[in-house]
Amino acid sequence: MSNIQTVDKTYVAGTYNRFPVEIVKGSGSVVYDTDGKRYIDMGSGIGVTSFGIADPIWQKAVTDQISKVQHMSNLYYTEPCARLAEMLCTRTGMDKVFFSNSGAEANECAIKVARKYQAEHKGSDCFTIVTLNNSFHGRTLTTLAATGQAHYHELFQPLTPGFMSVDPDQVVNLPNPGQIAAIMIECIQGEGGVIPLDQNVVSQITAYAKQHDILLIVDEVQTGNGRTGKLYAYMNYNLAPDIVSTAKGLAGGLPLGATLLSERVSGTLGFGDHGSTFGGNPVSCAAALSILSRIDAPLLESVQQKGSIIKAALCQTDGVEDVSGMGLMIGIKCKKPAADVVKMAMQKGVLCLTAKDRVRLLPALNIPDDVLDEAIAILKACISA
Ligand SMILES: *Cc1c(COP(=O)(O)O)cnc(C)c1O
Repeated sequence: MSNIQTVDKTYVAGTYNRFPVEIVKGSGSVVYDTDGKRYIDMGSGIGVTSFGIADPIWQKAVTDQISKVQHMSNLYYTEPCARLAEMLCTRTGMDKVFFSNSGAEANECAIKVARKYQAEHKGSDCFTIVTLNNSFHGRTLTTLAATGQAHYHELFQPLTPGFMSVDPDQVVNLPNPGQIAAIMIECIQGEGGVIPLDQNVVSQITAYAKQHDILLIVDEVQTGNGRTGKLYAYMNYNLAPDIVSTAKGLAGGLPLGATLLSERVSGTLGFGDHGSTFGGNPVSCAAALSILSRIDAPLLESVQQKGSIIKAALCQTDGVEDVSGMGLMIGIKCKKPAADVVKMAMQKGVLCLTAKDRVRLLPALNIPDDVLDEAIAILKACISA
């Protein structure tokens, strides 16, 4: 075992079951470990490095900003923060943005907005946030409460009250809609196994929310920023969310969360209602401006194409039972355990992820076709072996 792995095991809290691999550098969709072994990166740091590792355009945006000003408190204006909020609103039709540093924090903000909005509109006993079974919304005590997977809750009680999770088709049958502040969904459950919501169910939830003045929060932490072949995954559905949270791929590898507020709720947060020391950091925002400005129509088209190539290749592979997902967010149900496929792929030079019982692929949005073909060939061999 190399020294760094020992040091890490000794001093870093044991929350991650790391593979015995230390990555030292990379370029685009290829990374190298300490032995110089080459891997194709089909996970992008869980959908974070949107344009790959050390992408030169992204790198220039970051280094230009870092050499001007790396941080100011939110007591002052900085251009990247304002311009990024403008771009996010222009491209989604949303009205205002709150910046934070992670997906969990973006969801925390969404929940605070929903609670305050409904306390003022439907009354102080309207605070319940309904989420879906098998969802994932983060690791803080409140976003854990929102996460509809009981095994994450054990041993961390009591969690923040006021949450309940149900199956997607049961949302419209809930009693006491007057006490429901918001319904929070992932259009494609990521950690839950790359499971897209059914358009009919989404339409029913939307109609139910509208009928009872319930806010609709869409968690786009994993699905956002081009991942599914649209700028945001809700754009694949006929959906007008009140609040959208995003993070992961937004800044291409720097920490940044964003909570997008529609006109209906954008006046809810006033001075002092919420805040973040690092939120809207100019370097993260400059990075995100660079990333978002490259997620244009041709790029989204090619994300859809690359996704179709992966799906077509895998559907015909022995040992594949089902392929789910949209764009470059793909889940593969194999006859073999997903963990075995991931392990074998790593030996053969491909890094991929799991999500529940599926192998999960979240490659860079611009993974070159020849690199993608190489990765697909290796994956097919691992799955059918
Ligand atoms: C990863 C994820 C989160 C949590 O994001 P962090 O940045 O780890 O806090 C929340 N929601 C979804 C859908 C995610 O995939």
